[in-house]
Formats: sequence, structure tokens, C-alpha cells
Amino acid sequence: MSSPAAEPANLMEAVVSLAKRRGFIYQSSEIYGGFNGFFDFGPLGVELKKNIRDCWWNDMVRRRDDIVGLESSIIMHPKVWEASGHVAGFTDPLVDCKVSKMRYRADQLFFSPIVVDGKTVGYVSALESEKTTEDLQAAAESFKRKKAIQGTLEPVQPRDFTAAREEEIPLIPSPATGEPGSLTPPRSFNMMFQTNVGAMNDASSVAYLRPETAQGMFVDFKNVTDTTRVKLPFGIAQIGKSFRNEITPRNFIFRSREFEQMEMEYFIHEDADWAKCHEEWIVWCEAWLKSIGLPESHLSRHTHPKEKLAFYSRGTVDIMFKYPFGVQELWGIAARGSYDLTQHAKASGKPQELFDEATKKKFVPHVIEPAVGVDRILLAVLCAGYAEEDVTDEKGNVEKRTVLRLSPRIAPVKVAVLPLIKNKELLVARAKDLYTKLKRKYAVNYDDGGAIGKRYRRQDEAGTPWCVTIDFDTIEKPGDTFTLRERDSMQQRRITEAELFALLEEQVY
Ligand code: ATP
Repeated sequence: MSSPAAEPANLMEAVVSLAKRRGFIYQSSEIYGGFNGFFDFGPLGVELKKNIRDCWWNDMVRRRDDIVGLESSIIMHPKVWEASGHVAGFTDPLVDCKVSKMRYRADQLFFSPIVVDGKTVGYVSALESEKTTEDLQAAAESFKRKKAIQGTLEPVQPRDFTAAREEEIPLIPSPATGEPGSLTPPRSFNMMFQTNVGAMNDASSVAYLRPETAQGMFVDFKNVTDTTRVKLPFGIAQIGKSFRNEITPRNFIFRSREFEQMEMEYFIHEDADWAKCHEEWIVWCEAWLKSIGLPESHLSRHTHPKEKLAFYSRGTVDIMFKYPFGVQELWGIAARGSYDLTQHAKASGKPQELFDEATKKKFVPHVIEPAVGVDRILLAVLCAGYAEEDVTDEKGNVEKRTVLRLSPRIAPVKVAVLPLIKNKELLVARAKDLYTKLKRKYAVNYDDGGAIGKRYRRQDEAGTPWCVTIDFDTIEKPGDTFTLRERDSMQQRRITEAELFALLEEQVY
């Protein structure tokens, strides 16, 4: 019996702790004190990540007739990034604190004047969070109290640092020191990691680690159309690592400096109904997220306001996810017009066109781009799946269980095979036989260590949807059945080997 699943008070802390404890995610280079913005995926994490990737690849590429795959190189010709606009424009506004040497993204650093009876008496600042306004208000109240200022404090009016006027900048306190005077005006900071290719170490050898996988699809557009039989509309999809020198990597793996993207460029005719196609892809992406177990209640849409779009963009909608630290972008779906292909045609001198049989004219296709981060999905499924419950056993004892309700599609381990005891030859032989058969197709665990209840708890924390226990009935009674225990309901029933394989076939796809 279990009480309704409850979210712990600090869900993020609980998820980070479980991720470390059970070998999902480690800090990179931990024995050297870690390396900010980089992470390693442990034995369970690597399986979970692979399953997310595989589900996406199967659904996006293999199970569709209109999309093909690609793997382009991480380091590409530097001219690619000039043509795409990344060399000039892939920047974030950076603010330095000259005293603490801390760096902030100006659009994530908020401030407000402290206004008492209509008069500005000082400034407060706070980093962006779910409760930036409350933090600023509390800081303003504390300022007024400390300085014993009389009068009525007006509500704070938060603005981000990019909107600070020149004369305000020296008056805004640094979040690091709490004192004004040390923050620099925002400047553009290019987020691409630079490296040098070849033996020379000068300006001519500068190259970049890709900040997105998308340019690979544009640069290989002609290769794909010339060597395959794709016809519009069609897509090119890629999964791979991207690198961004984020000023403030944060929220665990949500914003890191090395991460993995799953991107798809869907090419359409220049006269096609792009808005309809855009909407269809948003719906597809939402349905896909639900198919891997993300609850609808945690998903929402954010449409980018027209005035914030890049000049070439026709529209961008982000699918947002309710993380413990706030509602944040998970998946961006952008209608990019013909910008990228046109830019590469201009810069390379190689036309990036298709021939329209109907009009007998050449044209540059337009593109819809769904772009998502594997790591952000992984964090979302951990946060949405984590629960702590009070469980009462048959003797009436109450104990806490931690359970990771991961969809069978992506769970790192699909089934755990548990021999009830480990010193009964026939029983162990049957368990090993089943384990060997399951292993050929699925990620499975064999666990014969400790009380059966403890073994179930271990699998609950790892997100394993099913445990099968090989017990005395298996070997003594006719029917060759096992006990199947379901992770979420904790209910048990007897099942045959054929039924178990049928269940897996249906649920793991
Ligand atoms: P943000 O506004 O959060 O910086 P973005 O709009 O720059 O993201 P895109 O360039 O559209 O992101 O990248 C596509 C997807 O790649 C994002 O929706 C996100 O899932 C993922 N992504 C981008 N930057 C990071 C990062 N630093 N760490 C992890 N995932 C990222």
C-alpha cells in the first residue's frame, strides 16, 4: 500500500542527489574539484540518454518516409560560421564585477531603483529566478530599514541590466558584493569555443567547436539532395554534441557548456503554407514529449514576440517545461525562411536551389527547424518522474520509497530479474535462463543480493518499470510463471515468459 506520491520540498536538490547517488550524472573532473558547465553521465545516465536519443531517432527518422539522417563534423570550415552569422552575432551581453571577478549575463541580472515617497534613494539587484521581484522588494525593504529612511517605499520596478541607463550603472550593487560601483556596462561576448587547426597557431588557423548542429544540415543540403531521392517537403535530422561558452552555466545540466542537440531541418517549397507546417511540427514535438512520459501539465508554449525575432525569422515557438527552478525553454521550433541556404549560397558561391518541375524555375527552399537538447529532456524526465512515497508493508511498518517514474520507452533498465533466493539450484538456473534471453533484446539487471523488498527499492530508484521474481512456484507449480511486480502501482501478478516478452514488445518501442 502506498500514500499518494509527494514531491519533496526541494525537488531539484533531491534529483541532483539521486542522480549522483545512483550513477546517472557526475560533475566532470570531480576529483580535481569539478569543471563548471561540464558533466559526465554514469552507467544509468548513459543508458537513459541513449534511450532518449534512440526514441527520437526512430520516431523522427526511421519511422518516417520524409526524413533522412546526417552526422556532420563538429569542427567545420570557419567560413560556415561567418556565413551563418555566428562569428558576428552569436553573443550574449556580459557584465563583469571588477571586485569579485564574477561574470553575469546582463539579461539575467535584474535591478530596480529604491523609491521612497517618489524619490530614488538607491538601487537593488538580484539574479533572475522564479522570485526575482520578491527578492528585489525584500532587498529594498532591508535597505530602507538599515539606512533608517522614513516614508513610504514604492513597489520595485524590475528591469534587466541591458536596460540600465549609463548613469544608473555605477549605482547598481553587484550581486557578489552587495556594493555599487564595480559592475561594468554590458559588452558582447561571443559564445563559440575557439581552437586552432593544424600546426600553426595564428589567426589563419582559427576554427570553432560548433555551437549548434543545424549548420551541418544546411552545408550538406546539396550533397543530400544530389545523392538521395528526397523530394520536398523533406527533412534532414542530426543528433550530436554542441558547445557554447555560456557565461553562467546553471541549473545542473539545464545550461551547460557541452551538450547534445537533436535538430531537424524540414525543407518546404518557398510558396508552401509555412505557418501550417510550423504548427504541425509544434504539435508533433508536444506529442513526442508525451510519448516518452512527460506530463501534459508540465508543458506549455511560448510564442516569441515579433519584435524580438531575428530579421529573417517568420516565427518561433518554444515548448516550455515546468522545471523546479521555473518554466523554461525545452524545445524551440523556428520558421527560418530561406535565410541559411541563401547565406551559404552567397558565401560559398554555390547555389543552394532546387528545380520546380511545375513552374520550370529554380528556387531556394524554406525551412522549419525543431531544435531540442537531449540534456534538457533528460533533466525534465528526472524531475517529472521523481517521487517520494510512504509505503506500508503487510506487517504495518511504514517506510519511505523513492521512485523514478520513467516511461518504459526510456527507462535505463527495462526489467530486473530477481531469484527469490540464491542457493536453490533449479531456481537460479531458471532465473539465469530468463536473464540471458531478455538480455539479447533489452537492458536488464540480474540482482540476487539482499531481501527482496530492498531489491525492489533499488530498482524503483533506478526507474526500472518491472521486476520479475523467480520463486518456488516457478519451479514447483505447473505453468512456469514468475511474479511480475510493477514499479508504479507496486502490484504483483503471475506472468509467463511469453507474456513478459509480449508486454515488453508493446511498451518498449
Ligand atoms: P537558451 O535561450 O536557453 O539559451 P537557445 O534559444 O539559445 O536557448 P537554441 O539555440 O534554440 O537555444 O538551441 C536549441 C535547443 O538546444 C534548446 O531549446 C535547448 O534544448 C538546447 N540548448 C541550448 N543551449 C543549451 C545549453 N547551454 N545547455 C543545454 N542545452 C542547451
